[in-house]
Amino acid sequence: MAAISQVDRQQMYARDVHRCIRCSAEQLLTCQHRAAVGMGGSKVQPRVLECVTACLECNMRFESDLQGEALRFGWKVRRWANAAAVPVFYPLEGIWCVLINDTRRPITEAEAVAMMHAVYGQEQYEKWGLAA
Ligand SMILES: [Zn+2]
Repeated sequence: MAAISQVDRQQMYARDVHRCIRCSAEQLLTCQHRAAVGMGGSKVQPRVLECVTACLECNMRFESDLQGEALRFGWKVRRWANAAAVPVFYPLEGIWCVLINDTRRPITEAEAVAMMHAVYGQEQYEKWGLAA
């Protein structure tokens, strides 16, 4: 995938309070592409809502042992899913948000779960919950 622009990266960090979305680290921050693309990548630059801030370690682990957790909390989205329709959990603040361009709008947990069910189905979403 094409890299996020510097301007967009700064907007992403500001939206995410300059912390890793999972562990709240303030060092070694990276752009976590919520929607991975296939081999060969994409020439299209990701939108800010398609990215969240993650430290280097968490970013790598989202592709391995933390994949279920990352999907459950919206830090990753399935390739076919619309990233705008998948809410994001911010554990430090304990809030779910919908990402809109470079801003985030808090929603209730019930709203977030309903959105997750709409995208992935209740059964799949609950499986990720058991794994977390
Ligand atoms: Zn982290």
